[in-house]
Amino acid sequence: MNDFQSKISNLLDSKGALTPCNRCGNDEFSIIDDEWPVTYSKGGWVGSSIPCAILICTKCGNMIFHSIKQLERSQQDNEKG
Ligand SMILES: [Zn+2]
Repeated sequence: MNDFQSKISNLLDSKGALTPCNRCGNDEFSIIDDEWPVTYSKGGWVGSSIPCAILICTKCGNMIFHSIKQLERSQQDNEKG
């Protein structure tokens, strides 16, 4: 596990984001080894991207995307809005 994967794993722990795979019930995931920008477009133009951490269920391959910025926000940040 590299530094990025360790960071994401710790953040998921701290948020209690530990439920098993919602497709097959497996409780083991691999975390891809770097952030993955998910791009979106507005009106046909490429707009921006959201840096994501992707978890892949080791049994069924279900992919779960977490916004890294949101994961890094503390509970206090969320209460401030
Ligand atoms: Zn699964």
